Amino acid sequence: MPFTPFHMGPGTAIKAVCGRYFSLTVFGFAQVIMDIEPLMRMVRGDNILHGVTHTYLGAICIGALSALAGKPFCAFLLRFWNAGLGTKYLCWLRIQADIPWAPAIAGAFIGTFSHVLLDSMMHADMQPFAPFSSNNGLLDFLPLGFLHLLCVFLGVFGGFTIFLVWAWRKWSIDV
Ligand SMILES: [Zn+2]
Repeated sequence: MPFTPFHMGPGTAIKAVCGRYFSLTVFGFAQVIMDIEPLMRMVRGDNILHGVTHTYLGAICIGALSALAGKPFCAFLLRFWNAGLGTKYLCWLRIQADIPWAPAIAGAFIGTFSHVLLDSMMHADMQPFAPFSSNNGLLDFLPLGFLHLLCVFLGVFGGFTIFLVWAWRKWSIDV
């Protein structure tokens, strides 16, 4: 995708369905790592922007890296977020800072594989099955505008559902 944040739409919807079994922050970490290569190639002015990172083989390697590095890094970010919510008016925004291995691994690998899947529908320079095949059968599978709308819709659906579940839990604890 031209903008990494679009990938967060499907991730938010998966978080809404899977809850604590899926780390959205590690998923987001994986999205950023995935798009470092196209960004560097863009700056360099390369003709091909999506290379080895945007293959399923690359998704395995970056998924492993994202799980290993993303778990402690995202836990640190969440602790930092919680520390900034010191006053009693903001403490309701605190979230669970520890990320167990299973949700970290799920967030990392679902993150990298969904990234390659979605990107392969819109980037003509991608060869997702390299080095085994140079074909990209999913190119133009969905119209570009529809793909972006779908990501936004999934993000809104996921965000709304997460909010409803959070509010329901808080309400049932407070009552
Ligand atoms: Zn990408």
